[in-house]
Order: sequence, then structure tokens, then C-alpha cells
Amino acid sequence: MNIKFLGATREVTGSCYLVQVNNKNILLECGMLQGSYQHERHNRDPFPFDVADLDAVIVSHAHLDHTGRLPMLIKEGFHGCIYTHNATVDLCKIMLVDSGYIHEKEARWENKKRERKGLALIEPLYTTAEADTTLQYFKGLNYDDDIEICQGVKLTFRDAGHIIGSAIVELTLTENSVSKKIVFSGDLGHKNAPILRDPFKVKYADLVIMESTYGDRLHRSWEDTWQEMGEIIADAKSNKGNILIPAFTVGRTQELLYEFKQHFEQWQLGDWQIFLDSPMGIKATNVYAKHSEVYDNKAINIQQDHGGIFDLPNLHMSETTNYSMKINQINSGAIIIAGSGMCTGGRIKHHFKHNIWRKNAHVLIVGFQARGTLGRALVDGCENINLWGEKIQVNATIHTIGGFSAHADQQGLLDWYRGFENNPPVVLVHGEEAAMEVLAQKLKHQYQVNVIQASYRQNIII
Ligand SMILES: [Zn+2]
Ligand SMILES: [Zn+2]
Repeated sequence: MNIKFLGATREVTGSCYLVQVNNKNILLECGMLQGSYQHERHNRDPFPFDVADLDAVIVSHAHLDHTGRLPMLIKEGFHGCIYTHNATVDLCKIMLVDSGYIHEKEARWENKKRERKGLALIEPLYTTAEADTTLQYFKGLNYDDDIEICQGVKLTFRDAGHIIGSAIVELTLTENSVSKKIVFSGDLGHKNAPILRDPFKVKYADLVIMESTYGDRLHRSWEDTWQEMGEIIADAKSNKGNILIPAFTVGRTQELLYEFKQHFEQWQLGDWQIFLDSPMGIKATNVYAKHSEVYDNKAINIQQDHGGIFDLPNLHMSETTNYSMKINQINSGAIIIAGSGMCTGGRIKHHFKHNIWRKNAHVLIVGFQARGTLGRALVDGCENINLWGEKIQVNATIHTIGGFSAHADQQGLLDWYRGFENNPPVVLVHGEEAAMEVLAQKLKHQYQVNVIQASYRQNIII
């Protein structure tokens, strides 16, 4: 038995691991590379394995850095099952299809340039139709279900608490009457996060494959985060401005709505009009509303006592472009949640155009902003932004609220590892080299365990 590390090695995106046992090949994750153009170009590279040899595929959750190349597997002839959690199946219906749409759009844009230069045209990485076809191969499971996916390979998902449906993957592999248990963390959630449970603690493993995104960092506490949020809303109310919140459509948007419901009186939110101006955000919120079986106890109680956990009397769901344009006419008293999370596209840019030059407007940054994005420029205090060729002055107050994260911090990662009673060896993945190194040292020091920082194409015998 062995496992090959074919992605998210010393970087965060492109998760892809190949488990080989009993002459079976199980692909764990089929993620897309995300980031710079140079980096994303490698999504077109051939898979570093033979697709025809695959017996099954497992994906831990719906983020594209874990699922984004699945349609390419289907295109290349994989017709087996893609195992994942039921809520992930529902999210993939939105996210993979949207990804196909974006690839079509990008290819059209690229081809226009190529035509002018007389270069050969390119195909989209995959189309919406191909993403749609992929969905029929999904097989949804619940947490704690045990299933034998092929001879000698047993699979169980546990709650990872990262986004809805996110799973820790437990694999029991048996070859020649010898069994070994591999536990793959997937992306681990941030303890005490809204709505979802904390990451499930597994007690035993022969090998742990673990994410390390924030292996070198500690998050701010949720209490401080909510307090700051309340203060900003009060401040914005006193100068009668609008509040713009660029938010990731899956996870962050739902956390905000849920906390708005919980702090409705305290933050005097009844005085505002709240808009979720994002068709994807609305669909993702519906998936969160549907899968109440995975809520934590607090969310279950709210659901039982008050109906839906996102029901706010003054929440407006804005689906159409016309509706979105109408919001632009509101000068005061609107809280607008819109994508994209890093302000690289989506409706938030239109709201910036209509608000960010106003002195009384507020922008709340509630998520990670990668270098080179408009969101990062705002965080770094830029004085002007360029939108569709127009230079616009930034007069709004930009608030960066640090405590939001869908990932466990260093303490969270160490706490999760502590759940194992036998101190199993660890392979670190899904992290930049610096974060991985710090976490590796902590693990070695605290638990005297063998820690491997996976490198690309490394093969580990189990
Ligand atoms: Zn993720
Ligand atoms: Zn990830």
C-alpha cells in the first residue's frame, strides 16, 4: 500500500493524492491550482496518473482547490463513483457549474486576443455542460457512514467543520490480511465557528495526512471579532453610511447572516436594510438551510426556536441584475453583502463604484485577501482604485476584521492532532513552506512524532 502526493505539496491549492492498495487506485481530491496566471496554467497539464486506472475518487469538500479538476477526469473517461458528503454534492451543483461558466468566459476572452494575433484558439478547461455531466458520478454519504468503496478500501467521513459538508476522510486499507488506517484531515475548521461543529477528533491512525494552511499563525478570538463588528455597525449608523461587505459566497456569507440574526437586537440591525446581492450566495445559503443535520447544537436550537437560522425580517435576496442596480441608488442605511470575496469580480465592484468615494461609507473586510487583489489593495490603504478604466477615490473607511477564518489556526491544528491516542506519523500538506515548517517543528517537539513535509510526486509506503 502506498500514497502518492500529486498536489497541494508545499502550497495551498491543487489538492491531489493517489492511494494504491490491492491493485486498486483511489484518487483522493482532484483540486484546481489557484493564484497567478502562471500557476493556473498548469491546470491544463495532463494528470500525473493514468485516468483509466482509477477505481474510485473521493473529495473532502466542495472548494475548487479540492474539486475543480473533476470534470477533466470525466472528460478523460473516468466513469466510476466520486464519493463525498451529501451537502458537498449540493454545493458542487453550484460551484463546479459556475467554474465551467468561468472557464468558458475566460476561453472566449483569451480567444479574442489570440484571433487578433493569429494564434491557434484554445478550448475552455471545461464547460458548464461538462461540469453538469460530472455531477451524475457523485455518490453522497453522511458523516459516520461506513462503506466499502472497493475491495480492501473502507471509507468513513467525519465532520471537519470547515464549510458545510466538509469531511475528514478515514480510509481503512487492507492488503494481504494487513490493515492500515489513514486519516486525511481535509481542510479543518476554525473552532467555535458559527453554524458548524468543531472538527471531529479521531482517536487512531497509522498515518495522518494533515493540512497546514495556518500552521504558523493564531487567529483572533471570535468574541473580539463580534465585538468589533458591533462597534463598526454602530459607528456606521451614526454617520448614516452604507456598509459594504465583500464575502466568499460559501461559508462566510452564511456566517454573517447567522450572526446578524443572533445579534439582531444588540447591533440594532432593525434600523438597516440588509442585502445579499449574490445569486451564488443565495444558492449556497439555500444549501446551508437544507442541511440542518450538520449544524452544531446552538444552530439546531435556533432553528427549533425561531425557524430558519438565516431568517431576518429586513433581509433582501437580490438575484437579478436589475435588483442589484436598484441597491446602487440607496445612499444610506444599507448593509450589502456581495461577492467576490477578494473583490476581484462580482457585484461588489459595482457597489464600490457607487459608495467607496463617499466619506460616510464603510467597507468590512472579513476574509483573506491574496496579494495582487483589489481587496488586498484596500487593506493596504490604497488611495484610489481603478474600476472599468475609471479612477475612483477611496474615501470610505476600510475595516479589516481579522478573526474570520474557515481554517483552524496553529493551536486548532495541534489540538486536532492531540485527539489521536497513538501519536501517529504525520504527512503535512496544503500549506506554504513557512507555515508547514513551523507546524512540523511544533508537532515534533510536542509529540516526538515523525513529520514529513510532503513534496511533489513523493511516494510514501504505508
Ligand atoms: Zn477548503
Ligand atoms: Zn483547501
